[in-house]
Order: sequence, then structure tokens, then C-alpha cells
Amino acid sequence: MIAEVIVDVSAYPVDRPFDYFIPEQVEELIECGCRVKVPFGNRNVLGFVVGIKNETDVPLDKIKPIASLLDIEPVLTSEMLQLAKWLKQETICYEIDCLQVMLPSALRAKYEKMVVLQTNVENLDEPLKHYFHKSTKVNYKEFEKNNLLIPLKKALNKKLLSLENVVKQKVQVKEIRKVKVSDNLQLLQEVYDKLSNRAKKQKQLLLWMKQHVGEILEPDFIYKETNCSPQVLQAIIEQGAAEFILEEVYRNPFKKDVKKTDFLTLTEEQKQALHKIVEAMDNRSPETFLLHGVTGSGKTEVYLQAIQHCIQQGKDAIVLVPEISLTPQMTNRFRSRFGELVAVMHSGLSIGEKYDEWRKVHQQKVKVVVGARSAVFAPFENVGLIILDEEHESSYKQEDTPRYHARDVAIWRSKYHHCPVILGSATPSLESYARARKNVYKLLTLKGRALNQPLPTVEIVDMREELKKGNRSMFSEKLTESIRDRLKKKEQIVLFLNRRGYSSFVLCRDCGTVMQCENCDISLTYHRYNEKLKCHYCGYEQFVPTICPECSSDHIRYFGTGTQKVEEELMKLFPEARVLRMDVDTTKQKGAHEAILENFGAGKADILLGTQMIAKGLDFPNITLVGVLSADTSLHLPDFRAAERTFQLLTQVSGRAGRAEKHGEVIIQSYTPEHYAIELAKTQQYEPFYEREMMVRHGAAYPPYYFIALIQVAHEDVLLAAEYANKCAEFLRTHLSFNASIIGPTTAGIVRLQNRYRYQCLIKYKIEPNLIPTFLQLLKIYRTDWIKKGVVLTIDLDPSMI
Ligand code: ADP
Ligand code: ZN
Ligand code: ZN
Repeated sequence: MIAEVIVDVSAYPVDRPFDYFIPEQVEELIECGCRVKVPFGNRNVLGFVVGIKNETDVPLDKIKPIASLLDIEPVLTSEMLQLAKWLKQETICYEIDCLQVMLPSALRAKYEKMVVLQTNVENLDEPLKHYFHKSTKVNYKEFEKNNLLIPLKKALNKKLLSLENVVKQKVQVKEIRKVKVSDNLQLLQEVYDKLSNRAKKQKQLLLWMKQHVGEILEPDFIYKETNCSPQVLQAIIEQGAAEFILEEVYRNPFKKDVKKTDFLTLTEEQKQALHKIVEAMDNRSPETFLLHGVTGSGKTEVYLQAIQHCIQQGKDAIVLVPEISLTPQMTNRFRSRFGELVAVMHSGLSIGEKYDEWRKVHQQKVKVVVGARSAVFAPFENVGLIILDEEHESSYKQEDTPRYHARDVAIWRSKYHHCPVILGSATPSLESYARARKNVYKLLTLKGRALNQPLPTVEIVDMREELKKGNRSMFSEKLTESIRDRLKKKEQIVLFLNRRGYSSFVLCRDCGTVMQCENCDISLTYHRYNEKLKCHYCGYEQFVPTICPECSSDHIRYFGTGTQKVEEELMKLFPEARVLRMDVDTTKQKGAHEAILENFGAGKADILLGTQMIAKGLDFPNITLVGVLSADTSLHLPDFRAAERTFQLLTQVSGRAGRAEKHGEVIIQSYTPEHYAIELAKTQQYEPFYEREMMVRHGAAYPPYYFIALIQVAHEDVLLAAEYANKCAEFLRTHLSFNASIIGPTTAGIVRLQNRYRYQCLIKYKIEPNLIPTFLQLLKIYRTDWIKKGVVLTIDLDPSMI
């Protein structure tokens, strides 16, 4: 028999299955989705079995045998193998990258496989038995070497033995030592009878054990219950009345247990939304719903009850949340409803914790997974519902190969499993909302907040006026006044610093003008190394002006302020205030994020000052004031989605205020209050913003009206980078039709990255049948020729930042 194997070598000629002989001793064991070690060139590499067949076209003397089988149970389901094939085409990358991205890093790393005894040795069949006399854990290689894989698999199926991967990075299945009381009552009695009367303690313990025949108990429990010492227990064990066993436990990434919560009675709007979703689940209809609900409208409660229905159907649910909002507050809402049935996957976990959470899913021990982007690959076999919360978030797009979007993978899986997908957001991406308008997605709307609380009042402060009044601080009079007021009332304040695009654009502090490109509707980016302003779309550049071209003022500033500086100024203005700062610096340590929020929730601080991290998921009743220090920062990024992202951020962060009885107030400071993204954030209405932004996109031929693709060429030598970028553009121009417009090559947003200079071409198209074939041809040239010259070429079919 022959296995088709995708090998772990990312190179062009290798991006296809290779045939290997299946050695006879593993013929009965091998399945698609198992990992194998195979000879490749002059070394052994990891590979994935993607097919098993009887015949091959390859001359038999060219085929080598598999060196070893690493899994007896597949780590990838056949669904995942199919998904990888699709993903490879969709994102134009190597299949091996798609297979790897689906597994936790522990399985990608080097590891050793161990076989663990799960029973009394005597229950094992002859050939296996003697391996376990000395140890409860034996290296899998032993069985492989001695041709015992078939009896091993039988014993595994009977659960007499189990497998575990001991990763060489010290990640292991965690175990605790427990005591198993013999299940042989007669034996207990015999041991009892043999003891002399002086061994009072031992006798006592045995009497107690007779009430616990066959039970598995923690030693501490036994000591506590019987008052015996470890020596007494040891003595009993030596006489065979009980034994120590190792029990596998999952690491617990949750610091605290959560209280169980009950289902809430849904509002009329929530009910209607849930009804539609449940209907789709019952009809096994792979529909995609866009759940558009204002902040605090109770989207999460809808998710929770939909998941409940999913579990009742006997199926599993996948919930994706952006990494940044995977706060304990968010995950606890799922744990408090579904308890032990929830696994959590995110980057804050250690490799071992991640591996354990993945295993819970792989072994179908849980019904719900809550996780960041990659959790979309959770290996459930019976998916009944997939949810993407905050579907507009850019973190759902992976910026590295495979450059997939979790939304696309979710929809693919929903078709495979015949189940619905829910995309939830208060500020949907334009793409999704446009699809909902066209009925490609089903739109579900929650207009009101769940408890009928009014949305907070939003006020926009024109910072140019402040300057005119002589206020040079970063706090407007209005914001200072409101902060003072809340401090007095002992209500809580959130201050949000929009730090995207830190220090990278140039603005006139008198009139708010931002230096813009002559040819594009995009702000220019400041480059320190040559003191120039540059457009990343068309390549236009100019020197930084010393006076404003609009108002002739000389108050020209590079924009951007750090949280630390804000904190210092806060201290000066309000020495009595207790401030918690949450940014990349204060949350580096594991659990820091959690601790800050906990302290704030417990009222240990008056002001929470932070970046993007605090824009989402916070649900604290005592927050009545939200201040946005600089709304404009994200507006002037060289990105066609800058306005959209700004509107989303302002709406999200405003939604943190007034979520309970007390009314909320939001103060947004801006140098360009007349910009529609800021003006419309005041009303917190999505539709008007959508209409307006769609017009802009239409005019400039951007998504959702056009598709875009981005090709980047990088090289350590700036001249070579430019040369190959030109070759690239030329190739595209000769191969693509007139339906596609090719912009560039221009320098990339970050010109020098990892010591390489980067150029890019942007392709806009509506329908371009030649696109993928052209990209594949280009890739072939790159992978067989350019790559040898040190060129790095990447293709992104759905770039989220340009
Ligand atoms: P969203 O996710 O849309 O921002 P949440 O799900 O966080 O909204 O809900 C906001 C608040 O309203 C939460 O505190 C939640 O417990 C509460 N809530 C949601 N639905 C209901 C309901 N049907 N009845 C009472 N309270 C609700
Ligand atoms: Zn000016
Ligand atoms: Zn330009």
C-alpha cells in the first residue's frame, strides 16, 4: 500500500503529495490525517498523510518507505484535509502551511510519544504486559521497534492504555498522583486480618477503605478523612490493598472558578434574532447571519442561547472573539453558562495550556470553544454553530501565510457541516453589511440596548478651539471638568488613547489640516530617515512644510502621544485620582491584563487609561464617562479603511459608558471634528456612516465595490527590490486584462522591515478571470528563480492594511 504525504518543506517543487510505501506493520494503523516521518532528500522530515492507495504511477524503485508513523489516531480529520486544499487555493500558499496552521504549536514541535498505562498491568495482553512492570509510561518507539503496534491499538481502543505526546519543549500532559483502593474486597479483608493488633492506624485505614472499594482518591483527601499519615498509607499500598496511579489532568488556564449564571429572558428583538438562527440550525441550513446590534444590545446573550440550542442538538459550537477582547470578562460569560464544556484558546496561554485545550476539543470532551482567530480550526467533528463576535476586527485576518480570513474559513466549515454562522457587530465591516443588504447574508438587527438604557450622550470637542483659548494640554476644558465631576461622584472613567499610527502623520494644530497626497485621498506618512512625507499608494513625496499650506500657521506637529505621557499629565491635574494604565507595556506579563480589569471592576481605581485594548468587551456598571483623547490618530493612517476603523473604534469605546442604570457621557476630542467618521460617531448610528463611506469607496474604486490584491516584493538591497518590483508590475500588466487596474510599484507602508526594502503593487478588479492563473505563474517564476536571488515575494488576496 502507498501513502500520499505532504512533507514539511516549504518549496515550490515540493508543494504536492509524495508517494511512500506503507510498511506492513503499520498498514492496519495508518489513516489519512496521521503525521509520519518520511525520508526526504538525505534527511527525515515530518509529513501528513493525505491519501492512501494501492497503486502509483511512480516507478516503484523510486519510492521509499515511511520511516515511522507518529500518530495512531489522526490529528487532522478528513474535513481539515479538504479545508487545507481549499485554503491553499484561496490564499495561494503551500499546502503544508495550511495543515500546520490547524494544529497547536505543541504538535508542530518536536515531541516524543509515550504510551501510558490506564489499568492494572494484569489486564493487559501478554506481549504488552512486561513493558509496564517497571513503569506506567513507556516510549511509543519500543512498541514500534518490536512490532507491537497492532496489539497496542487494540489496547488503546479498550482504554487500557493511552497515548500522550511529550513535547521536547518540556510541554507534557500534566499528571497528579492519586490512590486507587483495590476493588477486591476480599483482598482488603485478608490484608486486614494479617495485620497485628498493634497496627491500629493501618487497621483503621483499611476499615475506611472497605467503604471506598475501587475508588480513586486524592491522597490529601484520605489523610484528612482518616487522620492517617503518609507512612501508614504507604504501608497499606505495599501490602497491595491500594495503589498509586497517575491521573492525567488538563492544565487549568482559568485562575478562578466562575459562578453559574442563568438564562436571561430575552427582549423581543433578541427573541426574533434567536428564532431565525434556531430555525436555520433546525433546518441544517448553512446560512450566514449578520447580527447587527448596538453596543450593549445583548448580542452575547443571543450567542449564549443559540449555543444552548446547539448543545441540545448534540452538536458543538465555535465562538471566535478578537484576541484583544478575549478578556476574562468575556470568556467568563461562556464559562458561567456552560462550565466545563468550554475550552478557551488564545495567545495568552502557554504552549502546554494551548495543547491541553486543543486536546479537549480533539477528544470531544467539550462542546464549546471560545478563542481567537485560529480557533476557527477547532477539530470538532459535529459543528452546529460558528460565531464571530466583532466580525469587523482586522485581527481575524492572518497577516502571515496562510493569509486567511477567519470569516471565510467559518463559512466554508458551515457549508461542510450544514450549520449557520453568526457574524456579530455593532459596527459591521462594510463588506459584510453590503452583503447583508444584498441578502447574501441574512441581516438581524438589535436596535435597542437590552435593558432599555439610552445610548450615552456624545459630545465632540474641537481641539483647535482649545488651542486658540490658550489650552495647550491634551485635556480640553470640557473633559477636565467632566473628569473632576465623576471623581467627586465616585463614578468611573475610561480614557482612551487612539494610538494607531503613532507619530506618523503631520498636522497643523491651528486649522487641523493633515498633509495629504496630491493624487490620492490619503494622508502622507512622515519618514524620519529622510525627513520627507510620502504617499504609499502612488509614491508621491515632499518635504515636511514649515508653514501650513492652508492657513500659513507654523504650528506644524508630528502627531502622537504615548499613554505614559498622558498618565503623567493626569497625575498633575488630578493628584487625588487613582489611575490604572493598560497598554502593551503594562500587560506584558501573563495575567496582567486580567488583574488590571479585576482591580478596576472592584472599584480600586477611578480612571482606566488605555489604548485599543480597552475599546472592547468592558462591561462595568459604574463607568459613566468615556473620554477619547485623540480621535484623529487612526483617521490619518495610509489605509483606505482608516475612516471605517476610526468610526468603529469611536463607537466601540463609547459603548463602554452607561451600560447600567447610570447615564453615560462620552467626550471625543478631535482636530478634525468635521470629518464624517467623527461627526457620525456622535449619533452612534451605523447606517448613515455606511451610506457615506460606501460613496467614498465607490468613488475611489475600493472594496466592497472592487476587490483588491496586494503583491509585495522585498529585498535587502533597495535597488534589487525596486528592480524586481518593476518586473513584477510588468508581468502583471502583460498578463492581466484591462478589467484590472494595477497601481505601482510604490514603496510599502513600512518601507524597511526586517532589514528588507519593500515595494508593492496594488491590483483592483471586479472580475478578472486571469487573476489566479497569473498569480500562480508569477509565483512559479518567483519560487524557481527570483527566490535564489534573495527576493521575498508575497501575495495577499484580501489585504486588511495597505
Ligand atoms: P453586546 O454584546 O451587544 O454589547 P451584551 O451581551 O454585553 O451586549 O449585553 C449588555 C448587558 O445587558 C449585559 O450586562 C447583559 O448581561 C445584559 N443583558 C443582555 N440581554 C439581556 C436580557 N435579555 N435581559 C437582561 N439583561 C440583558
Ligand atoms: Zn493650518
Ligand atoms: Zn498618492
